[in-house]
Amino acid sequence: MDSEHFPLQGKCHCGNLKLIFNSTKTPDELAVRTCACSFCRKHGIRSTSDPNGNLQIQIMNSQQVIHYRFGMHTADFLICGCCGVYVAAIMHHETQQSFATINVNVLDCAHLVSQNSVTVDYDGETVQSRRERRLRAWTPVTSIEEQNFQP
Ligand SMILES: [Zn+2]
Repeated sequence: MDSEHFPLQGKCHCGNLKLIFNSTKTPDELAVRTCACSFCRKHGIRSTSDPNGNLQIQIMNSQQVIHYRFGMHTADFLICGCCGVYVAAIMHHETQQSFATINVNVLDCAHLVSQNSVTVDYDGETVQSRRERRLRAWTPVTSIEEQNFQP
């Protein structure tokens, strides 16, 4: 890992889904987005991503994960099947590289992240423009570790 990265940890409420977000920004430097889509509004999600950082995802019990898709079905919204918390959305790309946007609220440092956010509305996007935006803006996923630990 690059020494310029800040490892920001996060998890769902029960700890089944864990994130290690290696960001090039400190928590207070993260750009926060509030998305206007109905999923994000219903959850009160604040999102962030870092195209120069990377994300590791650890799933303790892969039987207890919901991969929720809606709208254009271009991303998997990872929701814990035990506690119901949404942690990140992942877009799988043709290059085998995946990209993610992260729910700021699940980060341990969430209280240090700015309360100011930019409201974004992606309603007018096509499938292609949506993919292109995510390739530019989302965080490369370096690993998804899935275990079958039954608590
Ligand atoms: Zn959970």
